Amino acid sequence: MLHGHTEQHTAPETMRDIEPSTARDLLGRRYAIVGGGLSGMAAAWYLQRRGAKTHIIERDSALGGRAGSEQLGERVVTLGGKNIGRDYTRFRAFTQSLGEHPYEHFGINSSRVLDGQILTFDSGHRSRALGQLRGIPARDLARLGRLAVAVRRNPSARYLDEARCRRLARRYHGESVQEAFGPRLRELLLRSLTVRVSAAEPDEVPMANILPYVGMILDSYDQLCGGMHEILTAAAAHSRVRLQTEVRGLLFESGRVCGLQLTTAAGESVCERFDGVILATHAHAAARLLECLAPQLAALLEEVRYFPVTVLLAEYERPVFDARVRAIVFGAGESLSNAGAYGRNDLNVVRYTFSGHKARSLVEPDPERLASIAESKLASYASVAGNRCRALLARRFSPGLCAYHPDQASFLQALDAAAPELPGLTLTGDYLRGCSIETCFAAAEEAVAAIDPSEHAAAVAPAEEQASDRLAVGEAPQRVEGVGG
Ligand SMILES: Cc1cc2nc3c(=O)[nH]c(=O)nc-3n(C[C@H](O)[C@H](O)[C@H](O)COP(=O)(O)OP(=O)(O)OC[C@H]3O[C@@H](n4cnc5c(N)ncnc54)[C@H](O)[C@@H]3O)c2cc1C
Repeated sequence: MLHGHTEQHTAPETMRDIEPSTARDLLGRRYAIVGGGLSGMAAAWYLQRRGAKTHIIERDSALGGRAGSEQLGERVVTLGGKNIGRDYTRFRAFTQSLGEHPYEHFGINSSRVLDGQILTFDSGHRSRALGQLRGIPARDLARLGRLAVAVRRNPSARYLDEARCRRLARRYHGESVQEAFGPRLRELLLRSLTVRVSAAEPDEVPMANILPYVGMILDSYDQLCGGMHEILTAAAAHSRVRLQTEVRGLLFESGRVCGLQLTTAAGESVCERFDGVILATHAHAAARLLECLAPQLAALLEEVRYFPVTVLLAEYERPVFDARVRAIVFGAGESLSNAGAYGRNDLNVVRYTFSGHKARSLVEPDPERLASIAESKLASYASVAGNRCRALLARRFSPGLCAYHPDQASFLQALDAAAPELPGLTLTGDYLRGCSIETCFAAAEEAVAAIDPSEHAAAVAPAEEQASDRLAVGEAPQRVEGVGG
């Protein structure tokens, strides 16, 4: 299977259910992982558990991708994904395997201004929050309730899979979230959910793909005290990591993918052989690499939708939020979708998120300009006016968040059907099972589990010989960590 999607897969309910793989059946094999984001780090981790040697190849100057970190004033902050659900069993097992990396509680605390009143949804007080859902038609509550019960009963339902997406498409007659629910529930809850998870408007989310969104509201969130960069650094020690190295093409020989064409940090173009290649990039980058080898598959990957997100981090002299209200969600008329405290104990650091339809025209992430837009919106609800800003940092993510394929079931089916054409190649990423950090791990786990050790046997000996020749050419300048795994 190209992406290792299995119908029967059931997500482990707790961390205790995750048994480390004991089968070291890829011992000594060299795998290239294209992309040093969390999907790539996850793929490397699962491969190492099967004994493989992992080479992570990343075109940026740092690992992390859309969960990357940067300096804000005196501290390092994570600009992209950082909130870790209590249900993120795979990601938590990964961090636990890397030593002592404590979490701090973050929760979901999100307020909306509606009819002149601030309504706060706090995951610590769910029943109080649900009491605020007045005026919502019973039909809408029942629909949402049914979906929530499905995810509660079976946590793996929050992962996109072909059968579930198809069933939901049939049940909702191909409707979008916009069409399936009335305006009150959309305004109170659903729009902020689709914008938060996928930077998509409700009319851009088919009901067939709704379950990862429902899963998000049922979870409660923590974040790593040391930030994402600490985990990435710890994980990098177990792989050979090459930064500023761009994969330009796939080597295909004797009917299988057997290596990569790379442009190194020094600008050299080299070819390097591997026993297997995992593409752990976003769908469009994978499409570009597959254009020549598998044009139909590339065209399908191009159809996956990503919507941009711009994040602004601002450090103020005094707290902007308080313990009761830690984030404000803005409506469809604003380019600012959310303003929230960076952490429970970081009430003076605000993470502003610009996403959704109106924010798509913000092409240049000019921190000063974004700050003036954001502060003018937040000033009525939080202590931002007259509060001196000490440091600003902005990044536009494009691709930002994944809103999947408009027909995810057929897309997943087509990926499976294409797999036999490309032995030696595995795809993983946020476009398969869902776009949260945990679903990236779920997709990578399945992708690695689907690798058949016997399939590669013939390629091993020559690949290793030739690879060691190539290492001498292309590796030294980019190598940032020793070989492990
Ligand atoms: C602003 C924001 C906030 C988020 N918040 C959360 C959150 O709180 N919780 C949560 O669960 N999820 C969150 N997410 C989602 C989560 O962060 C992402 O789904 C996840 O990080 C995606 O990881 P990835 O490895 O699949 O892709 P990426 O992070 O995009 O990694 C792919 C990597 O591949 C590299 N690459 C691409 N092409 C090539 C090439 N040809 N050669 C070499 N390298 C290449 C890229 O440079 C990139 O580093 C958030 C996302 C964003 C953008």
